[in-house]
Amino acid sequence: MKTRLHLRYLPAVIAVLLAGSLSPAAEESERAVCDVCVVGGGSGGFGAALAAGRAGAKVILVEKQAALGGTSTSAFVTNWEPGPGCSFARELYGHLKAKGDTVAIAPRVHRYQSNEPYGLSYGTPKSDLTYDDTLHRAGKGRKCSVVMKPEALAGAMGAMLKTAGVRILLKTTFQTAETSGRTVRSIRTIGPGGRSATIVAKVFIDSTGGAHLCRAAGCETMLGADLRSRFDEPSAPEKSARVLNAISLCYRIRRVPEPRRTEAPSGEVGAFGKTAFVSGVSDRELIVNPLGLVAGVVLIDKGYPQTMALARRRVGAHWHWLQRYPHFKGYELKDIAPMLGIRESYRTVTEYILTQGDLVAGLAGQKHTDIIAIADHPMDTHGAGGGLRNVRAAYGIPYRCLIPKGYDNLLVACRGAGFSHLAASSCRLSRTMIALGHAAGAAAAEAARDGKNVRKIDIARLVSAMGAGKKPTKGK
Ligand SMILES: Cc1cc2nc3c(=O)[nH]c(=O)nc-3n(C[C@H](O)[C@H](O)[C@H](O)COP(=O)(O)OP(=O)(O)OC[C@H]3O[C@@H](n4cnc5c(N)ncnc54)[C@H](O)[C@@H]3O)c2cc1C
Repeated sequence: MKTRLHLRYLPAVIAVLLAGSLSPAAEESERAVCDVCVVGGGSGGFGAALAAGRAGAKVILVEKQAALGGTSTSAFVTNWEPGPGCSFARELYGHLKAKGDTVAIAPRVHRYQSNEPYGLSYGTPKSDLTYDDTLHRAGKGRKCSVVMKPEALAGAMGAMLKTAGVRILLKTTFQTAETSGRTVRSIRTIGPGGRSATIVAKVFIDSTGGAHLCRAAGCETMLGADLRSRFDEPSAPEKSARVLNAISLCYRIRRVPEPRRTEAPSGEVGAFGKTAFVSGVSDRELIVNPLGLVAGVVLIDKGYPQTMALARRRVGAHWHWLQRYPHFKGYELKDIAPMLGIRESYRTVTEYILTQGDLVAGLAGQKHTDIIAIADHPMDTHGAGGGLRNVRAAYGIPYRCLIPKGYDNLLVACRGAGFSHLAASSCRLSRTMIALGHAAGAAAAEAARDGKNVRKIDIARLVSAMGAGKKPTKGK
């Protein structure tokens, strides 16, 4: 058996080992055994843990942040763009709606214009829009987003997971994986107070966003734009291009009678996009997504802490710029998201890789018999040398995109699953990730219960349970 250490955690491991030699408490180690271990509690991880728990599996969910929801909560990306979603997303919406003013179906209040270069979308009391109006992007018909309060979304996710019996470990970071050939035996984590744990599971699901577990387990991964020759994608570059979608650090602003003005940060902050997408449950409090704040490669080259420091300085400069526009006159900066908004990092080489060919073919042209989720968002490579390229109709994502190539008891259900760079730019949306998690969790529970390889589960039953295969969306 091999233990593979994810190199980026080496300094943390050394620190913990040193601390452990000084403090006996830090040496205490728990050993937990479960059917399904989900690593990462963002949109994908939520869907995976919920599906596995509801299917009767004993589930442990490991999440590094203090809250569930990942990018959708800790990075303040609380906007579900128009597009298909599975039953779990609708259920989440129902939970939030029952809690009052924590969710809204938000029409566009202002569109990008050269003299006011931002989009603005928030819930209004008189709106007659319904959840169904948010379920498609391609084609004709009403299109609007679901906007939520981050804390409320995290709370609703936690409530649903608890009813499914999921054991949730917050502030707990996955560090290493112990593998035997193409099987993951156990993982090691560090939790609050430096307490380490070993988690043994029959099936593991990587929902870390950046394929951290897959990388630690030795899976092949991809990074940045793929060459045209790799997947024969017409919009891919012919020559090697080291580009990743831009990173954002979102922030919250609130309307107050006497807003505090933000001064420009002193010193050089470098160039950033003078644009934004701003959304809120109502106009009392809004979240600003500064779109292209930091180039995606900075995270790979400089690491997380340095990227976060640069992004925080640019947030100051960004709000200093935005606050002058009429829509934002009565607002002041409230807080900055605790987590970077990362659109793209490592992706896993899986049994099938979704490409631009799938997006162009759409459900009508795809031949796959294992479609477990549908999506219809444009290819969106802002900050990566591109813009929006619409897809004509909804397309399907096969279950094989969730199986790291050759692995027996490992699935990947997050933006780090088996997508080309271009396909990922379309299907990374939060509700699509919940749907991927939903399928992965159901498959993992079956594999754990029957002692099967994740490739050998009953695909027809999974496809039918997800209801995604070959069904046209409203917008088609
Ligand atoms: C700025 C920005 C704007 C966006 N706008 C929209 C939008 O308007 N609408 C839309 O639908 N989508 C949007 N997206 C895309 C969408 O929000 C994300 O792609 C999606 O939420 C990703 O979900 P995920 O489950 O793959 O990853 P995440 O939500 O990132 O979850 C991964 C989780 O894993 C945890 N984790 C990572 N490493 C470890 C570890 N070692 N140990 C334990 N836990 C770990 C993280 O803390 C995190 O909680 C946007 C994304 C960004 C960045």
